Amino acid sequence: KLASDGTPLTVENVVKPFILSDDDYKKIMDVMLDSFNQGLGKETNAKAAVKMFPTYVRSVPDGTETGKVLALDLGGTNFRILLISLDGQEVNMESKIYIIPQSIMTGTGIQLFDHIAECIHKFMNDHDLLHQKIPLGFTFSFPCRQEGLNKAILTHWTKGFKCAGVEGNDIVKLLHEAIERRGDIDVECLAVINDTVGALMSCAHEDRKCAVGLILGTGTNACYIETLENTELWDGDNDEPHQVIINTEWGALGNDGSLEFIMTDYDKQVDKHSINAGQQIYEKMISGMYMGEIARLVIEKLRKAKLLFNGKGSEELSERGRFYTKYVSEIESDGDDSNFKCTKQVFAELNLQKYTDEDCRIVQYVCSLVSTRAAYLASAGIATLLNKMNRPEVTIGVDGSLYRFHPHFHDLMEEKIRQLVNPGIKFKLMLSHDGSGKGAAIVTAVANRLA
Ligand code: ADP
Repeated sequence: KLASDGTPLTVENVVKPFILSDDDYKKIMDVMLDSFNQGLGKETNAKAAVKMFPTYVRSVPDGTETGKVLALDLGGTNFRILLISLDGQEVNMESKIYIIPQSIMTGTGIQLFDHIAECIHKFMNDHDLLHQKIPLGFTFSFPCRQEGLNKAILTHWTKGFKCAGVEGNDIVKLLHEAIERRGDIDVECLAVINDTVGALMSCAHEDRKCAVGLILGTGTNACYIETLENTELWDGDNDEPHQVIINTEWGALGNDGSLEFIMTDYDKQVDKHSINAGQQIYEKMISGMYMGEIARLVIEKLRKAKLLFNGKGSEELSERGRFYTKYVSEIESDGDDSNFKCTKQVFAELNLQKYTDEDCRIVQYVCSLVSTRAAYLASAGIATLLNKMNRPEVTIGVDGSLYRFHPHFHDLMEEKIRQLVNPGIKFKLMLSHDGSGKGAAIVTAVANRLA
């Protein structure tokens, strides 16, 4: 059998497009630096794929922040409300997850914010807070153009959300209006941050060298500390410190076609079937919402070519979105010498009955190539930021289930960043614990003290 380009249809030939060379990764870094600079430039921002939003968060915490703060965390799988008390290094947190039904995720903005306000009311009632005025920090992890710490205009929805009437509007205003419609809770949103900023701030609370925040979860994104001089779009004050955290929104990298040279047929299919085709190209090659689906498409390609499962699959395996990214982690966790315990478990969940050890090995190989490319692509982004900042030593605060639970993501990233970063730059990848909540609380506590 031959593939469409005339090469014999073998496993190696099918997976080859996922194996990128060092030169490819260097080229990707050039594309990234160009995109970052376009986003930062006054003249070029409007057309740039990567928006590089200044956040109005200007400095990392000094570890002495105090106060009681309510935090909202919206931006992916779960919506959470947290009550956080900060007292220097002492951080206490209580939190609850609330469901956002699919009908609300793709309904109207009014419905979304009324739902959020209702959840806040429930949470405050449960925690006996209804009689108190309490400052609120909102971790809202979608691309926003900020005009102040508590003024954030959503540019467009990502990650499966699509509520009408929110894009182009200030989400703090929408939240405050929903709170006013109820009239029975007394909270004021003092700060909006992104989950990347949350990861950076929460790690910086312990480690002052932290200057980059990275998310590898439903989506991917990063933020870093930039000088005001390099931030042409900065229109805040010029007081010390002469720096600001930039939310890169790097998931949109490649929206201008600049990553076309590494896109596989499978990436193109994932994009085509998403609710935001043509957008978030880099994100779709990396993050948890898409990685399992990429692996599934490759597995299906191999199966149909009779290179897997003797050509026989299952309804489940043929269903879009049914091969979860956590399966990739589970399958890879079997390692070299086991009896494919987790892989067989996943096969059972997918109702695959007849397979050989060789099938297990091939599926494991596909998963490892897809996740390694994801880890290396994220590494290229981090290395580009580290080279751009050019600090001698930087800690990177990382959050998200993909990084947290994949068995090799951390090691793959360390290895690749080390290879791509300029000589003399030291770095450390640090897992952020509850960054979205803790980060929002730190920023809000500081804003409250200054108010
Ligand atoms: P979010 O990014 O939405 O705030 P998470 O960080 O939990 O939340 O990320 C959720 C994403 O992580 C989902 O897309 C899911 O596919 C992926 N995920 C969940 N568990 C695992 C796992 N064990 N290994 C890899 N990815 C996972």
